Amino acid sequence: MCKKVIIFLLLLCYLLAVGAAEVVLWATSDVHGVINSPKGGLAKIFSVLEAKRKPEDLLIDVGDFFQGSYSANTSGGMSLLNIFHSMGYDFCVPGNHEMDIGMKKLREFYTLLKVPLLCANWKFVKALPNMKSHAVVVRNNIRIGIIGVGDRESRTRVLPGREAVFMKEEKAIAQSLAALRKEKVDIIVLVRHGGIYFSGGTLYSLLKLFPEIDVVIGGHSHQTERGRKIAGAYYIHPAPYGQGVSEVRIAFNERTRKIERISSFLHETESVKTSVKMKKYIDAERRAAFYGNVETAKNVLLQYKSVEDLQKYLTLKAVAELGSADAELFFIDKAGIDRKTKINDYMIYRMFPYENNVVQIKVSYKEYQSILAECRKYCDKYKVALINELHKSGKKYIILRTSSFILSGGGRNFPEARRIAENRKITEFASLRQLVKQYFMQLQE
Ligand SMILES: [Zn+2]
Repeated sequence: MCKKVIIFLLLLCYLLAVGAAEVVLWATSDVHGVINSPKGGLAKIFSVLEAKRKPEDLLIDVGDFFQGSYSANTSGGMSLLNIFHSMGYDFCVPGNHEMDIGMKKLREFYTLLKVPLLCANWKFVKALPNMKSHAVVVRNNIRIGIIGVGDRESRTRVLPGREAVFMKEEKAIAQSLAALRKEKVDIIVLVRHGGIYFSGGTLYSLLKLFPEIDVVIGGHSHQTERGRKIAGAYYIHPAPYGQGVSEVRIAFNERTRKIERISSFLHETESVKTSVKMKKYIDAERRAAFYGNVETAKNVLLQYKSVEDLQKYLTLKAVAELGSADAELFFIDKAGIDRKTKINDYMIYRMFPYENNVVQIKVSYKEYQSILAECRKYCDKYKVALINELHKSGKKYIILRTSSFILSGGGRNFPEARRIAENRKITEFASLRQLVKQYFMQLQE
């Protein structure tokens, strides 16, 4: 009797062991060029992965990888190329901020990047060999289909040109799913540079169209999600700025060929020590910032031949860097910094070197005041930096710089703003206040 029970238990153990297999995915998102900060960064994420990631585990980045830090912004992402390679990513998906450097430079960056890119909803016209809509990987005899989707507003992030073609997200996902069906995949993962809510819809309504999708890894909205169900799929969203890396474990029944269970964990990195292997990147980042500042100072001094001008310029530049790291949107009053200092276009473009970043808009003092009033209402909630708001005289130029304004909501909803972005000229623009208001309303959606 006892013997029979033991045999039965052994058999049960055997069957369970044969039936269960596991797929493990790791994901980062919206790193924004942070290598090492008190709260996280790639160097700390590397330590977590070094300790916990198995060689067969997949690692994916969901986009907005390189824009944000000093060296990344001034090198068009190139300063992060080597660390990108060292992390051991299996795939990456482009974010919207990758496009800040302009499509030509982005193409250069991706040509050097050795990580396969997944993006179904936009493509370079001249195809990049390492960029595909989706991929199939096999782990433990389980076929995993992975679809990458860049920001659904990608088309509006870039200046018009012939570099890229764009497709509606829904259509792009449907096409990739059709291809994956033919490949007879067991699990479908959507890696999407987008959050739960977006203008005109929600992830819930999107996933209702595609019940085959099992797991969604989100990004872009910086709304960390440890793991939850949305419309039948399992949704996770890694923490931004390298403050946390997500781990998703998918238990798969090999006999029924079905997912048995999905669990996930967010490894927060604040108290994690940086790996010694990352020291060279941390040091390089420090050096780049230091020499970058020295270099800039030298150039500006040569150009302007005045210490006062240089000081004004560096103050502006510091504000600009602060802004590009934190603020969603900010204004620099061109005339108001100091009446004697001429802030010219050269200075502005030195601060924001990429074509997609600078839009100059001329508004009246009255319009300016109403814009400031609009911004003040939202100052605490959304990072809006207001600079030199105190000048008092008739018509002034305001330089509006944006990384996610004109080129995101702005480009799509406001043809006038787009026209300005194209011409890059100082232009009359009476409805700027309306623009700002609509921008904040979009954020609140
Ligand atoms: Zn984004």
